[in-house]
Amino acid sequence: MTTPTHDARVQFPAWPGESVTSIADMVARTSASRAVRTLLRRGIRRGALLYGSLPCRVQHFCEATSSAYGDEYDLLESHTLHRFATSGMRVAMEERVAENIVFGKVSRTMYPRLLPGLECGNRFGLQCPECAYEAARVVGRRISHVAHCIPYVTRCPWHGCKLICDCECSALEILLSQRRGKAYESNAIQYARSAWSINQRRSVGPIWPGIFAQLKEKGYVTSREKLRIQEFRAKFLSLFSAGFEDARLTQLATDWSAIERCIHGVGRPDRGPPASPLVLLEWAANDIEPIRPSSSRPRSNSAALVKRPELVLNRRQWLKNAETNASANRTELRRTALAEWLWLYKNDRQWLQENLRPACAPVNRRRLHELPQSVLSAISQNTVDMRDRAGGREPLSSAYQLRLAYGMNDYLFDRVTRALCPGINPAQRPAAREVFVSRRVQRATERSMIEGLQTDITSLSKKARLRVETVRKFSNFR
Ligand SMILES: [Zn+2]
Repeated sequence: MTTPTHDARVQFPAWPGESVTSIADMVARTSASRAVRTLLRRGIRRGALLYGSLPCRVQHFCEATSSAYGDEYDLLESHTLHRFATSGMRVAMEERVAENIVFGKVSRTMYPRLLPGLECGNRFGLQCPECAYEAARVVGRRISHVAHCIPYVTRCPWHGCKLICDCECSALEILLSQRRGKAYESNAIQYARSAWSINQRRSVGPIWPGIFAQLKEKGYVTSREKLRIQEFRAKFLSLFSAGFEDARLTQLATDWSAIERCIHGVGRPDRGPPASPLVLLEWAANDIEPIRPSSSRPRSNSAALVKRPELVLNRRQWLKNAETNASANRTELRRTALAEWLWLYKNDRQWLQENLRPACAPVNRRRLHELPQSVLSAISQNTVDMRDRAGGREPLSSAYQLRLAYGMNDYLFDRVTRALCPGINPAQRPAAREVFVSRRVQRATERSMIEGLQTDITSLSKKARLRVETVRKFSNFR
């Protein structure tokens, strides 16, 4: 355990692998540190960083706790998902990202992101029942472990238990994590273990060279050090065809364009690929069968002899693909017949140039990508009243509270609102105060009648934990 070195306000040690948000939560609850409470509150309001494992820039947390839990880089390595999130980056890039998350001023971080909706929200509220029991037994408090904050993890990497949500801020994450059957369960456990293993191994360098070496050994890399995309794609998609418990991960694993973007991002010096597709790539490199010798392309000393039939074949395939996808633009055509395009580009470039669709500038380069249908369905079909709490005054329905409960950032919340309720101003969402108040007053009335208590407006307001004016304004009760 990381034991606090000084500062009398901080009393309790941190658990190994506990997230910084969880440590901040513990310090806020058990000490008089106003600074930590403010950081935590602001962090949750703005959307915690690194999937909920970090409430603010590391420097601010160290200042607020007088570095009682280690220096900035120790905290980043041991108590956040930094290692996981930078697992595809080169060392120089990773150092720049680390410096940015420790000392940065602007609100945006440098971690790679997936498309809106596919990207996970706040995962601080997720727990493994076994780990939670262990933490309660040993340290007597709730602990959020970074392993459970890893995007799309639905099961504990150590116990295999399905994660539960005991904190309102991860409502969307738990809505999208569904039990679906044995195949899904086994994939989910394997994903959790692979992702956690990457997080632990990260200190030895980026993981892509290892994946590439394995693919090369199995024959998926040409003599020119290029990946045999066609062959690898078929094996990759077939390996993950069963799907995962998190519908977003299923979408990611079956959407080859996202995986291809990740592969292209690996070599870039200015940005890194997102980590979750890398987990799948490493898994695939381990598990897929080697290419059979007969399926690899024959290499002849006489290139001219094999070139001619290949030339005819590739030209024919390219034209056939263009005919089938009559409405596709030149980039889409290239994606759908990448192998032919690559071959023709290398061997028959002039013919290819003559047979390309005319280039046209995109109308809007920043076009909005569609939100995943799984996310929209999970929200529109959700019937849980996320504002119903056991203690204290229940918060009223508001867009802000709903956003925090779903663990979304402002941008995604607005997109979801527009998609589900077109025409409604996002600031007005969910605009259901009347429904919410009358439902709570009705519940209070029923309870009062059962218990034989008075049902005047003052007693009912108290019972419903609402102000008298609120009940009068938003319900029919007078
Ligand atoms: Zn566990």
